[in-house]
Parts: sequence; C-alpha cells; structure tokens
Amino acid sequence: MNDTIAAVATAHGIGSIAIVRLSGSDVLSIARKLTKRDTFTPRHAYLTPLYDLNNELIDETITLYFKAPYSFTAEDIIEFQCHGGQIVAEEILKVVMQEGARLAEPGEFSKRAFFNGRIDLTEAEAIAQLIEAKSEDAAKILAKQMKGSLKEYVEDVRDQLLEILAYSEVTIDYAEEDLPEDLVDQIISRLQILHQNLSKTLRASEARRGLMQGFKVAIIGKPNVGKSSLLNMLLNYNRAIVSAIAGTTRDTIEEQIKIGTHLIRIIDTAGIRESGDEIERIGIERSIEAVEESDIVIALFDGSREADSEDDAILELIKRHENDRSFIVVLNKNDLSSCFDLSLIEQYLPLKMSCKVETGTLIEKLKILMDSQNISDEMMLISLRQIEAVKESLEHIDDALYPLEDQELEIFSFHLNRAILAMASITRPFDNDEMLDKMFSNFCLGK
Ligand code: GDP
Repeated sequence: MNDTIAAVATAHGIGSIAIVRLSGSDVLSIARKLTKRDTFTPRHAYLTPLYDLNNELIDETITLYFKAPYSFTAEDIIEFQCHGGQIVAEEILKVVMQEGARLAEPGEFSKRAFFNGRIDLTEAEAIAQLIEAKSEDAAKILAKQMKGSLKEYVEDVRDQLLEILAYSEVTIDYAEEDLPEDLVDQIISRLQILHQNLSKTLRASEARRGLMQGFKVAIIGKPNVGKSSLLNMLLNYNRAIVSAIAGTTRDTIEEQIKIGTHLIRIIDTAGIRESGDEIERIGIERSIEAVEESDIVIALFDGSREADSEDDAILELIKRHENDRSFIVVLNKNDLSSCFDLSLIEQYLPLKMSCKVETGTLIEKLKILMDSQNISDEMMLISLRQIEAVKESLEHIDDALYPLEDQELEIFSFHLNRAILAMASITRPFDNDEMLDKMFSNFCLGK
C-alpha cells in the first residue's frame, strides 16, 4: 500500500464543518493515536475528541473509517469531520503530518483511485469538472459520467471494434477454408454503422458544448439600436458572476447570466459598451467576430428608423451563418412609431419588443433554444482529450475501410488496432505518465 497522504478536503473559509481526509497504510494508527480510541468499525461514525501531541484537545470530531479496498482510493481512508473555519482543520492536518502523513498533491486522491482501478479516466475527468461546474446542465451531464455512463459507451464501441477485428483475423488465418462469401461485406457494413454512430456522438458533443461551458451569446446590430440597453436589462435579470472576464478576442469582455438551468456567456464586444464618438469606429468587423465566436446570436434592428446599409450588412451576416448558428432576430424600440420595413426580416419571425421596457419574451425564447439542446440520454464527450481520441479513432476506421475494399486484410487489421487503442485511451491510456500527471495536477487539493 502507498504512503499516507492527507489534505483538507473542504473549501477554505468559514463554514460549519471541515473535513480532513487521509489515505494510505498508516491512517488507522494515526487515528488511534489522535483519538485515543482503539477500534473503528468501517463505515461507522464516531464522535471523538482529537488531541495534539501534547495531549491538548484540538476539537471534537466525527471520525469515519473506510477500509481498503472499499474506499474512494481503494486504500484505507480516515475522514475527520471537524468544526469549520480557518484554524481547526489546519491544526489537525499539522498533527497528522507530525504523525508521519505527508501533504497530498492536488488530485492525488483521485490519482490513487485511478491507479488502484477504482475509477477510470472518464470518471476522474467528470469528478474534476463537476467540482468546477457553473451550471446545472453541466452538473447533470457530469454526474452521469461520474457513475460510468461514458465508460460503458466507450467500452461498447471498443468491444464492437474488437469483434470486427476478430472477423478479419479469421479471414486472414483461414483464407483457404470455406468462409461465407460475404464476410468482407459484413465487416464493411458493420464498420460503417459504427463509424456513423461515433461521428454522431462527436458532432453532438461539439454542438452541445454550450451545455457544458455555458452558451456563448452575441448581441449584434448597428450603433444606437439598443445593444447596451439590452445587455443591461439581461444583467439585471440574473447576473451569475458580476465580474467581467477578459474574452478571447481583443477588446472583448464577457458577462455571465443564469437562465433556468443554463449558463449564458454574453460576448460583449467592446463596441456594445462604448459611447459617443467611439461608436463611429465600431464596424461590422466586430459583429462578424462576435458571431463566429458564439453559439446563439441576438440580432437587433431599430424599429423607429428606416433600414439602411448597416442593417443590410447585419442581414447579410445572418444569411451567411443561419445554418451554423442559432439566431434570435429582434425588432427593437416598438414603443416608438414604426418606420422599419418589416418584410426585410419577416422570414426570421422577429420578436417585436422594447428592450428598455421588458425582456421576458426574449428570455423565454433563449431558454427554449437552450432547452432544445438538452437531449439528456445522448452520450456526450466532455473534454478535448476525449474528443481528440474519438477523432483519431474515426480516422483509423476510415483508413481501415479503404484497404478492405481491395481485400488487404493485414493493413485493415493494423488500422483497426489503432482505432481500438485510440478508443481505449479515453478510459485508460497506456504509457502516458506525463499526460496523467498533468491531468490530475489540475484537480483541487483534497480530491
Ligand atoms: P447601442 O449603441 O446599440 O448599444 O444602443 P444603446 O443601448 O446605447 O441605445 C441607444 C439609444 O436608444 C439610447 O438612448 C437608449 O436609451 C435608446 N433605446 C434603446 N432601446 C430602446 C427602446 O426599446 N425604446 C426606446 N424608446 N429607446 C431605446
């Protein structure tokens, strides 16, 4: 068994309880020494005093013992639930270390769970992301993956590939025998179906990234159309995180709002917030950038003015992207008398509203759009690492299909083996210590 590691598993700061967690071979002897209690039945809660090395009382705690291998790390684990705040947990940690434990590195508990076979990488990634999830959408998807749904999916694909590989090996080994004539055709059609399913998962994962990371929403329209008024109304509706975050594009900041279970990230091009002369220098380029960065676009037109060339440019942009982005077209300022030629935007079923007066219908429309992406039983890849592995697997399946048509079965087998390895790497990569170290070091302390 490994050396004993320890960490405060709860967040720093004031709270009613804090948890100090220990994993490794010495946890029981450390717990006995600190509590002066001899026996701990696994999974029982004990209310015990905890003493330091000078026999002074530190706190009264609930102590829990999880006996290997029935614990998160598959090692012996002790958890001390002590009173929260800045001091007590740190005191306990200090004494535990004086007794021979060492401070855990970030993610070291999860890393041990992985190496001891308790969890695979998809579950580890789901745990890490669940801790940091900012929306209920993300939390729901991650909770399922933590329970192994992605692992099952990956293993199923891998098993199917192995079975197809076995078919071809039979054909190679028994080429002279009486094999069904259509064996190669069968292999091709099974592989094509698998390819389709895997591609569908990949496409769905990329398209539904908004559920995980927050939906990026751009507000576009010519100067004075009401973009910043709308932004302010939305922020007043429900601002999840007040601070502005630097966006990926120069001069952009990002605001986050929660609508229902969804997180939306408004790409606030600097243009939205600028005023006076500055407005003049904001061109259509900013809108183009914002549209390309976003999942959903709110395009504003000013109902109180006649359409002009700047509106035409926005309409052009909508036309160019209507197949790859979701648009909500808004005819703003409907509290004023109308001068805008409605036929220009009629096909987009515009919302007629005044963003100075109310945004309820717009928020409802946003919510429906985001809800429609939430197909909960569809499998989803949640990290770039997983997406890259599926892409690699798909490329090898493609490469395997060509030689198969010419009956080049050895080359086919080579690529299929690569496809299987790429799939397997999603749950359990081989020989990749550096990648694992990097991944687990991103976890928070005590997990
Ligand atoms: P931006 O340049 O697109 O960000 O536009 P602003 O939000 O700064 O709005 C320009 C002007 O239009 C401001 O004076 C707003 O008060 C006004 N405005 C915005 N929305 C409405 C609306 O729905 N009705 C009316 N009457 N005025 C509006």
